[in-house]
Amino acid sequence: MSPVTHFLVGWMVASAAELNRRERALVAIAGIAPDADGLGIVVEFCTRGTQHELNWWSDYHHVLGHNLTFALFITALAVPFAQHRWKVAALVLLSFHLHLFCDLVGARGPDGHIWDIPYLWPGSKALTLAWSGQWKLNAWPNFVLTAGLIAMTLRLAWRRGYSPLEMVSSRADAAVVATLRRRFPAGEKK
Ligand SMILES: [Zn+2]
Repeated sequence: MSPVTHFLVGWMVASAAELNRRERALVAIAGIAPDADGLGIVVEFCTRGTQHELNWWSDYHHVLGHNLTFALFITALAVPFAQHRWKVAALVLLSFHLHLFCDLVGARGPDGHIWDIPYLWPGSKALTLAWSGQWKLNAWPNFVLTAGLIAMTLRLAWRRGYSPLEMVSSRADAAVVATLRRRFPAGEKK
């Protein structure tokens, strides 16, 4: 699925527990971390047509970052920054694995190619996960899911007083919350 959808799923996981601001960021970022292996697209694009083509995106996207080893690596990176270490470790793993699940169900390429998840890479190839019913990246369930996640994110921001914008700017975050609460003044806030 798209990085936006993955991030918002991660944000929902982060919002499901009592975490501080930094911990919420760690859990939400874990939701998009697997797609770090897609950054090879820059190298692949730049070397296309040259004598030394590097197909880092074609060869490694959905491979390098979409596996258990990378999940444990990301968790090990995140935990030292957390106050509630066990809780954050569990939620980072959950957020990461929801990314894999979302890719498994809804990341089919435009040419009909089914992405599989080499879960035990670089070790055994025995546990390569794939689902024949995988729908396309631009299929309607992904749009419905993303729209629902945006709505839930806004509602949570209205209720709790913070949104994912807190990760980049406290002022922008406060402005969004203030706007939402001005627009929808009724109801109790948790
Ligand atoms: Zn992915």
